[in-house]
Amino acid sequence: MFDTMAKNAAGKIALSGLNLAQITDFVKGLGLPAFRAKQIHSWIYAKYAASFDEMTDLSVELREKLKQVADVPLLTISHLEVSKDGTRKYLFSLPDGQIVESVLIAFEDRPTLSVCLSSQVGCAVGCTFCATGYLGFKRNLTAQEIVDQLMAIQRESGHRVSNIIYMGQGEPLLNTDNVIESIETINLSAGIGARHITVSTSGIVPGINQLAAANLPITLALSLHAPDSTTRMEIVPITSKYSIHAVMDAVMDYYNTTRRRVTIEYVMLEGVNDSDDQARHLAEMLKDLHCNINLIPFNPIRNKQGVIMYGRPDMKRQRRFAELAGRSGKTVTIRLERGTDIDAACGQLANKYLNANSN
Ligand code: SAH
Ligand code: SF4
Repeated sequence: MFDTMAKNAAGKIALSGLNLAQITDFVKGLGLPAFRAKQIHSWIYAKYAASFDEMTDLSVELREKLKQVADVPLLTISHLEVSKDGTRKYLFSLPDGQIVESVLIAFEDRPTLSVCLSSQVGCAVGCTFCATGYLGFKRNLTAQEIVDQLMAIQRESGHRVSNIIYMGQGEPLLNTDNVIESIETINLSAGIGARHITVSTSGIVPGINQLAAANLPITLALSLHAPDSTTRMEIVPITSKYSIHAVMDAVMDYYNTTRRRVTIEYVMLEGVNDSDDQARHLAEMLKDLHCNINLIPFNPIRNKQGVIMYGRPDMKRQRRFAELAGRSGKTVTIRLERGTDIDAACGQLANKYLNANSN
C-alpha cells in the first residue's frame, strides 16, 4: 500500500497534506493502532510539527520506527522572499524537481492572514498579461501538494492562516478533482472553513459546473477581464472554447445552486479593456448576477521577448471605471497591491528566482 503514497525529496513517505483517513491507512500499514493516526494528524495540523521528533507523546522507539519510512513535509522550501510590505513569497520544489510558488499575504488593516495557493505547475490557458501563462503547462498538482503548500507556510512562519485563495499558478478548474479534494482536507484537517476559501477561474465551464455540484460554501471568483468577446478572446484565449455567454450562464447556475455571491475579477489594461463603454457594458451584463467586482490594476510582467506588453491605467481612469461599473449597484473594489517588489502580486508568479539562476 505504501507504493501509492507520495515520497518527498529524501525518499520518505510524506504525511503532511494527507487527511485523517489517509494517515490512518498509513499507520495501520505499519501495524499500529488507529489512535496513533489521530495523534500524528493533530501534531501536523494543530501544532505545525515539522518532524516526528516534535511528537513528544509518541515513544522514542515509535518515533524511530516512523522516521525510517516517513517524514512530515512533502515540499521543500527552496527560496523565500519577504516584501517590504510583509508579503512572503515561497518557492517550493516538488518531489519530481518541479517548482511552484505560493504567497503569504498580510494586510495592514486586517488581523487575518491569507495564503495564495498554486494548483498546477505553469498554466495552459495562456492569458497574455500573466507570467504563469508564459511558463506553459507542466503538470497538475496533487491534492496533497496543494495542502502541503499551506502547511509548509504555517510551519515556516509559525502563523495561523485564516483565508485561502486559489490564485497562485495554474487554472484550478483544469484540475478540479484535486482542488476539491484539497479544499476538503483544508477544511477538515487544517480547520479553515469553506467560507474563507476562494477559487479563481478563467472561466472553465465544466469545472464551474463540477464545483457547483460539489456545493461547497466557498467563493467562486471569475476572471472576466472584458465584457465583449473580441477583447476577451485576445487576452484570455480560452474564450474561443468557452464563450462569455456560456461562462456567464455557468456562473449564474453556480449562484442559483450555492447561493454564494461570486466575485468578478477584472485586470485593468490601459487602452485595452478600461474604456467608459466597457465599464458600462460590464455593469449591464452583471446586473442580474449577485456579485462583487474586484478591479486589479495590471502588475507589470514581461513576455518571452522581455517586453512589457501592457500599461496600467492611472488612478483617475481606475476610479472612473470603478464608478461606471458600480452603477448597477454592485460593490466595486480596486485591489490593493501586495508584494509587487518581489514579483509576488497577481500574475507575477513565474518561478523567476530559479529561472534566473538556471540561465
Ligand atoms: N488561473 C486562475 C487563477 C490564478 S490567476 C485565474 O485566471 O483566475 C489569479 C488572478 O490574477 C486572476 O484574476 C488573473 O487574471 C490575475 N492576473 C494575472 N496576471 C495578472 C497581472 N499581470 N496583473 C494583475 N493581475 C493578474
Ligand atoms: Fe492561467 Fe490564470 Fe494566468 Fe490565465 S491568468 S494564464 S488562467 S494562471
